[in-house]
Amino acid sequence: MKAIALKPGTKDVALTDIEEPVITGPRQVKIRVLQVGICGTDREQVEGGRSDAPLGKDRLVIGHEMFGVVVETGKEVEGIRVGEHGLFSVRRGCGRCEACMHERSDMCFTGDYTERGIKAADGFQSEYVVDEQKYFIPVPEEIMSIGVLGEPMSVAAKAIDEAVKIQSARLGEFTNTDNWLQGKTALVAGIGAIGLLAAIALRLKGAEVIGLDVVEENTLRPQLLKAIGGRYVDGRNVPVMDFDDKVGEVDLVFEAAGVAELQVNLIDVLAVNAVYVATGIPSGNRPATVAASDLMKQLVLKNQLVVGSVNASIEHFRMGIGYLREGNNKWPGVLQQLITRRVAYQNFGESIHNHGAGDIKVVVEWAPEK
Ligand code: BGC
Repeated sequence: MKAIALKPGTKDVALTDIEEPVITGPRQVKIRVLQVGICGTDREQVEGGRSDAPLGKDRLVIGHEMFGVVVETGKEVEGIRVGEHGLFSVRRGCGRCEACMHERSDMCFTGDYTERGIKAADGFQSEYVVDEQKYFIPVPEEIMSIGVLGEPMSVAAKAIDEAVKIQSARLGEFTNTDNWLQGKTALVAGIGAIGLLAAIALRLKGAEVIGLDVVEENTLRPQLLKAIGGRYVDGRNVPVMDFDDKVGEVDLVFEAAGVAELQVNLIDVLAVNAVYVATGIPSGNRPATVAASDLMKQLVLKNQLVVGSVNASIEHFRMGIGYLREGNNKWPGVLQQLITRRVAYQNFGESIHNHGAGDIKVVVEWAPEK
């Protein structure tokens, strides 16, 4: 079968022929891949960045944002039928630490996890994939057209869940934390795919959302933000260190820009007792100059909290699918517009090397359904 494979650490990425995977265990599921989304991680990988081949191999099949249809199930698989749509999660645990032994490899302590398509395990950019039932997340038929957004939405869902849980734990004694986000102000920094998905989830939870980016207001990303009731701030007019004076302080920052200097400076926009969750992974290691004393002084004096969040548990994937479904009902057609380009796998290069200013999520089509 066809697959897109990369020689990690190089720019050598090509369509190759590899053996089609077969079910070898009773609880495995085989999926015909329909679509695979491309994100910043994929683009970094094919530029020679962060990426590892499986042990003993020199090539890695890339792709971690998948969506497909079940074509076969192992003898002991229950509750999943052939013809059902869904996706596999990304991370596989180290098998040794407490987090991984509790099916929370997204919190792995050892760092010896693998990630399909990223770290030492082949990914999903191929015609078929096989994995264990426990990594399968069903996607309801009504949101099939946006099922490929399941993985990025799971990342947003985890980050929001972490922030809310932390706030509930430390403020719950004296504030109503049933839904901490209700009526709060959230700043989403970077309104690419993850940022917009987070904005949707935050709006669904009742937060006022401000999106910060550096594009014209009349372009697609700010327009989609406004379509869900968000407000756009152009960072070229409002430098981040002036944001609190010009726009106001915020209760939550959801960072999805991955620009290190901005990431640190965003501490400045936090209100008293606010929380900041970072999801962007900066590439490169260019040093940045920041007003460290002012930022740290404020962080301490205002009980502020900064937390990083990566990957997602199976529960967060389920939450993410829930947000997609709810968001699709509330704002019909908006989530579909996040997919700005679909590229046939034969031309995959166009999906991964040409991320244009107007692109939000570019998707590789493996077997478009009629
Ligand atoms: C993926 C996550 C992964 C992370 C780190 C992200 O692009 O969405 O699943 O854990 O990269 O490799």
